[in-house]
Amino acid sequence: MLEITEIPVEGYECVKKAVDRERGLHAYIAVHSTVLGPALGGMRLWPYASEEEALTDVLRLAMGMTYKAACAGLDLGGGKSVILARPEEKSEDLFEAMGEFVDSFGGRYITAEDVNTNPNSIEVVSRKTEHVTGLKDRSGNPSPYTAHGCYLGLKATLGEVFGSEDIQGKTFAIEGAGSVGSIFAKMLVKEGGRIITADIRQESAEKLAQETGGTVVSPDEIRFVDCDVYCPSALGGSLNDQTIPKLQCKAVVGCANNQLLEARHGEMLRDRGILYAPDYVVNAGGLINVYNEYHTTYDEARALAMMEKIYENLKAIYRIAKEDNVSTATAADRFGDWRLEQARAAQAQTS
Ligand code: NAD
Repeated sequence: MLEITEIPVEGYECVKKAVDRERGLHAYIAVHSTVLGPALGGMRLWPYASEEEALTDVLRLAMGMTYKAACAGLDLGGGKSVILARPEEKSEDLFEAMGEFVDSFGGRYITAEDVNTNPNSIEVVSRKTEHVTGLKDRSGNPSPYTAHGCYLGLKATLGEVFGSEDIQGKTFAIEGAGSVGSIFAKMLVKEGGRIITADIRQESAEKLAQETGGTVVSPDEIRFVDCDVYCPSALGGSLNDQTIPKLQCKAVVGCANNQLLEARHGEMLRDRGILYAPDYVVNAGGLINVYNEYHTTYDEARALAMMEKIYENLKAIYRIAKEDNVSTATAADRFGDWRLEQARAAQAQTS
């Protein structure tokens, strides 16, 4: 039986925990904000070491989704779900129970794929709720679009750092050879980029290296290799007190969510002269794609045209950072806050 408990968390509209022992579900869903629209965010499955770790992750990810949608100009709020399980514990029962959990939000939370889930998982979830995106017969897997958005963000960042958007001859350290990281790496190689990669699944890193003519290092080394751009494309928190002093890159542009362990790490990167492309701005391509599926009949050309905004938004954020003399992370938060405040003011006027 599915047991759902609400957990009050300051600053969040709704956070719930669900446990279903028979079907093997143990999960959290956090809705951070629905000021701009229903909260859309992926479903992550991960063997968290503790309840606390899972709750912290879902809260940070949900807030990131609010800012991702706000900066991308989408009428969506921020939410996320996490399932505490090992990948080998995935089952149809588990995802059906998760579908019922998603449905308990009555459309305030809409799900999609994330780490360790895929369009097949979403298909099973959709048996129990209509509040899903990324279905195979609609917009499908968002990963190629997330990678495309990162590519646009990378171009804006290279222009800023090197005075040229050329990828040719540059070296990229790809941490995480998963769905998005692999596609992103292959895009870079097509334009003459060199790849160094690492993954905790050694075979994934080796496969990507083989496909890109790149090299493999260990997950402990990837952050510190000599490269032009470090591309965090695994889990969050890789930019922290221990790693930032030892980075050898000139810029950070990656697909992962929550790359900064804490907000102050944005300042630390700035002090080191490393240009950080705020994660929720560069990795919004997948969200823009599923937004198009959710709001209208899916049209890839329209979705791709909307993704061009990632490039423009990053340029605007780099300009704000310079003018306000703040980190790019702070500039991105200001960019998102501005849109959220406008929406709140408009809602206050109509109520
Ligand atoms: P994925 O599960 O396909 O890939 C993640 C990869 O990272 C896996 O191969 C995993 O083994 C590896 N990994 C985990 N910890 C690692 C570590 N410490 N060092 C090296 N490798 C490690 O997931 P994905 O869909 O490619 O997502 C990757 C990141 O991008 C996540 O942070 C996700 O939230 C974010 N993201 C994904 C999308 C999307 O469209 N899939 C959209 C926006 C953001």
